[in-house]
Amino acid sequence: MQLEIKDLSKTYSNGVRALKSVSLTIPQGMFGLLGPNGAGKSSLMRTIATLQEADSGSARLTGLPEGDLDVLTQKDAVRRVLGYLPQEFGVYPRVTAEAMLDHIASLKGIANSRERKEIVQGLLQKVNLYDVRKKNLGTYSGGMKQRFGIAQALIGTPRLIIVDEPTAGLDPAERNRFHNLLSEIGENTIVILSTHIVEDVTNLCSDMAIICLGEVVATGNPNDLVKDL
Ligand code: ADP
Ligand code: ADP
Repeated sequence: MQLEIKDLSKTYSNGVRALKSVSLTIPQGMFGLLGPNGAGKSSLMRTIATLQEADSGSARLTGLPEGDLDVLTQKDAVRRVLGYLPQEFGVYPRVTAEAMLDHIASLKGIANSRERKEIVQGLLQKVNLYDVRKKNLGTYSGGMKQRFGIAQALIGTPRLIIVDEPTAGLDPAERNRFHNLLSEIGENTIVILSTHIVEDVTNLCSDMAIICLGEVVATGNPNDLVKDL
């Protein structure tokens, strides 16, 4: 399984050329997309997640495990296998974590309520929020919200998980917990970690790309690439 990105370009209505013919092949495992603010990371992530349209080019998942859909060019199909954790992660403050995850699971098509409950409890334990599952999301700290976001992104066994600037504003302890969670996601999944923090990529990722002013300027192994920075 891999994500094949070909010649993606995007110019916003204000004239900013956020993506200039970006081509990348992203293999299974943790992939780091490193670049400074304004490089085009979020534009690329939103395009892959089908939340915005590119002017030209394509992003498609190929070689999905047996039983999954084979060619995913259509929005519906991509969304079915996608877990997206956006940079600015808004939560409904007056909803509990448990109720929200249950709701998302039903939106993702898990119709049986007992099955949903089992999945939701398991995820709450995995991200270490089980004890606070009945608290409103508005009472959560930044780190707790991020972990909630991971739980949300993991519903429905996604094949492609996109995490946009995840550790902004987290203290070192919360960052570590978040990293540990990400590295447990594991097999049969592509995880794209978009960040401007070099250590996030060198600590977690097996492959990476560097993006600058809308262009991919390097790809390869993090330890090889980063020593030249
Ligand atoms: P478009 O250029 O695609 O027509 P808009 O300019 O109407 O889109 O903005 C769409 C969204 O993007 C809005 O929520 C806006 O706040 C946000 N946005 C606009 N300009 C920027 C920018 N320079 N950086 C990040 N987000 C922006
Ligand atoms: P990054 O995630 O690497 O910080 P972005 O993709 O958010 O980069 O932004 C790339 C460029 O596109 C920046 O110059 C930004 O101001 C601009 N931009 C991002 N979103 C919008 C938008 N909706 N409308 C207009 N310009 C935008």
